[in-house]
Amino acid sequence: MAEPKGAAAETIHGLVTQRLKDRFQVQVKESERSCSLKGDLRRPGEEILAVGDWVEVRPLEADSGLIVRVLPRKNRFARRAAGPKPIEQVIAANLDLAVIVFAAAAPKPRWTMLDRYLVESHAAGIPPLICITKLDLVDRRAIEDELDPYRSAGYPVVFTSAETGEGIEEIRERLAGKISLLAGKSGVGKSSLINALLGSQMIRVAEVSRQTGKGRHTTTECRIQWLPGGGGLVDTPGAREFGLWEIAVEEIAGHFPDMREWLGSCRFGAGCTHSHEPDCGVKIAVREGRIDPRRYRSYLRLIGASEDESELKHCAKNERNRDTVEPAFRCIRCDLTVSADAPGTDHRNHCPTCLWSRHLDMRPGDRAAACGGGMEPIAVAARRGGEWGLIHRCKECGAVRVNRIAGDDNAALLVSLAARPLATPPFPLDRLESSMGGRAADARP
Ligand code: GDP
Ligand code: ZN
Repeated sequence: MAEPKGAAAETIHGLVTQRLKDRFQVQVKESERSCSLKGDLRRPGEEILAVGDWVEVRPLEADSGLIVRVLPRKNRFARRAAGPKPIEQVIAANLDLAVIVFAAAAPKPRWTMLDRYLVESHAAGIPPLICITKLDLVDRRAIEDELDPYRSAGYPVVFTSAETGEGIEEIRERLAGKISLLAGKSGVGKSSLINALLGSQMIRVAEVSRQTGKGRHTTTECRIQWLPGGGGLVDTPGAREFGLWEIAVEEIAGHFPDMREWLGSCRFGAGCTHSHEPDCGVKIAVREGRIDPRRYRSYLRLIGASEDESELKHCAKNERNRDTVEPAFRCIRCDLTVSADAPGTDHRNHCPTCLWSRHLDMRPGDRAAACGGGMEPIAVAARRGGEWGLIHRCKECGAVRVNRIAGDDNAALLVSLAARPLATPPFPLDRLESSMGGRAADARP
């Protein structure tokens, strides 16, 4: 691109490697400069600059500078900042790769989530690399088989173990010379992977709390971490969970490379949703085994369509995966298959036998939560009007949800939950008397 006349002589190009409060670390040639943003580039309430941006810098004293121009981006990873007027918050720009990290086990991978990350990286124009960690915990052949549909769809996959060092060299080679974003939910082994890549320049790895199984974020600032083998990694809590972009439903199919060949090949043309339409080209391809049924099922979920029973029944034999039995689902806790219709509510969200649920929704039925953790029933509460609500807490992320109880819920368990505060008071009952005297707040279990 053309340099602005006059400025070229005194400015140099640099890469934003870190954001501090209102200054930016900019890598200029071999050194870093602490730079501020020229006044006329600032927009109140808006961040125009992100890690990964290329800028033009006017050097000031020894190691500082003024950013006078932001060069056009090739892509960006953004999310909507909360607020009455949703504004886009760019987390990182100009990414060469999105490393999507899933553990082979602990936590058990949810491939629907992987499909979602893949759609999102495709929509953002960032090539994905699937990284399966904790290889030492599973049988290699089995996990490779599970990833087969992705490799046939053309996605690069690496298998690593921070424990044995397997795959670390391979991923190092793939990251060399690139700026990559690290994505994946907490606990899958991202920090351990970075540590393995960094060798001696370790960062802190969080102990996964045994009790909750929930990992803690160890990285708080957004910066590019340079790797010994070349290349840089952007690791930031803001980027760890995808699910940040809103993608129009009719565009989703286009983000499935393994479906693309059949899009528009049916009489419904571009308007086809590939869900309820009879004789849709995509559905025929699923039936003939040309599109993986698991991937097709994810697609249906992402567009919010109910699964076409007849279609998936045709391929039930080829299908190895079982993680989604819909419209019925399988209980994450007691493994029973639960029918979708729940007496008394129109949306079954927990197992009537053990009352456990799964963290899939942000709002009832939307399947928008990235977590997927088991939700433990912790209490019942009376709602307005006297109806009972069941309170669930996610074992992975701690989110709390109130759900309607269903007519066939396990009554004995419900009552025992309701009675729990009385059966196990948080302080010895013989202190009730003194707590009446105003010292209740001192009482601790
Ligand atoms: P992050 O939250 O994604 O950064 O995950 P961490 O790197 O903090 O790892 C979460 C937990 O998984 C820690 O207890 C690690 O010791 C463990 N872990 C990470 N990588 C591996 C691995 O390759 N093999 C095994 N067995 N455990 C791992
Ligand atoms: Zn179609």
